[in-house]
Amino acid sequence: MSSIHIVGGGPAGLAAAEVLSLADHAVTVHDHKPSLARKFLMAGRGGLNLTHAEPWDLFKMRYAESADWLAPALDAFDSGAMIAWTEGLGQPTFTAKGGRVFPKTMKASPLLRAWLARLTAQGVTFRLNNRWTGWTEDGAARFVDASGAEIIERPDALILATGGASWPRLGSDGAALEILSAQGLTATPFHPANSGVTIPWSPQVLERHEGEPLKGLAVTVGRTRLRGDVVITRYGLEGSVIYALGPALREALAKAGEAALWLDLRPDENDVALSERIKATPSHQSLANRLRKALSLSPAALSILREAGAPPTEPLALAKRVKGVRLPVTGLQPLARAISSAGGVRREALDAHFMWTDRPGVFLAGEMLDWEAPTGGYLLQASIATGRAAALGCVDWLNEA
Ligand SMILES: Cc1cc2nc3c(=O)[nH]c(=O)nc-3n(C[C@H](O)[C@H](O)[C@H](O)COP(=O)(O)OP(=O)(O)OC[C@H]3O[C@@H](n4cnc5c(N)ncnc54)[C@H](O)[C@@H]3O)c2cc1C
Repeated sequence: MSSIHIVGGGPAGLAAAEVLSLADHAVTVHDHKPSLARKFLMAGRGGLNLTHAEPWDLFKMRYAESADWLAPALDAFDSGAMIAWTEGLGQPTFTAKGGRVFPKTMKASPLLRAWLARLTAQGVTFRLNNRWTGWTEDGAARFVDASGAEIIERPDALILATGGASWPRLGSDGAALEILSAQGLTATPFHPANSGVTIPWSPQVLERHEGEPLKGLAVTVGRTRLRGDVVITRYGLEGSVIYALGPALREALAKAGEAALWLDLRPDENDVALSERIKATPSHQSLANRLRKALSLSPAALSILREAGAPPTEPLALAKRVKGVRLPVTGLQPLARAISSAGGVRREALDAHFMWTDRPGVFLAGEMLDWEAPTGGYLLQASIATGRAAALGCVDWLNEA
């Protein structure tokens, strides 16, 4: 039996603990927060989207340029395995319209309770309020407890699963990546992924429509056009369609310092069909009334239409505007408000089992690795899959050592 310490009690670290304790190793999970998996619990607030039921090859493409890197870990723990695992913990799941998979309770807390009970029964030890701070000169792992006392550990292997750097108050604050970078590990600084965009709204939009959704849109950035809903916020727009456009927006912002979103408020019909319906409304009525009646535009959609300047009155020009409202984007919301982080530990630094090649016996997993994916269950799937893969790699490495 080997002693393995895991830093980070989020989904990736707990998944590693599950595999290692099942393989009869002595497992200790450290977390610097007073309780475990705070981000996982927060993820359950708006409905815990565990995974996605789309065809598996399509699923893996969501990881874009990291798809081939993550494929072995994902294939070993795919969406079906995620569902079976969740149900094995006594939490039935369902697939929502569109393919997102949730526990029937929608929450993370019952699943986490059952998971922690299973890990405890498998002998996993948890040390809370314990912050990992790096290594001593002779390679021992250093921790600092809540009283500020230093604790030195010499496990046979160490798994780091300290997360990204979004929502830092939940625990993953990016400090571990700085320690690792200072030790020479190749990493890209964390930056926001799945974050809202900043749009300088007029006072009319803000006063009347903050918090309102715009449903059934098509949103275009450059050559990427996606369908979905958005929500108007104080600072701009949020929503999974906005998050999915993040990489394209980031690229445009980096190149030009600004970007634009094009909203198609009625994507199911072409401009000619829309203009015919506008023409059929009485021309003496106000523009707002005609658009409301002809195209069922909500008050929020009507205000957004005006954000791009006074709408034309000629029906075809007006229909074209409805299908192409240009909104300037001045930035992305900061990392602290993003759902997830892009950046992290680069694949070049690791072997095929997520072991740091320059520091054998140290494995890394979860969101702290440099991959990114849209919302839709892909973040938890890859965090848990890489946690399990790192743990399996660790078992093999210990067997060979
Ligand atoms: C609001 C919100 C909603 C989300 N909803 C979903 C969703 O529905 N579906 C989905 O797939 N994903 C969702 N996510 C993303 C998902 O929660 C994360 O991708 C996932 O939790 C990452 O797992 P992880 O274990 O890699 O990191 P984390 O969950 O961040 O866990 C890392 C752990 O490491 C600990 N830690 C960090 N540094 C140290 C240190 N130096 N010493 C000791 N401990 C340390 C932290 O306290 C933390 O507990 C959501 C995220 C947010 C913020």
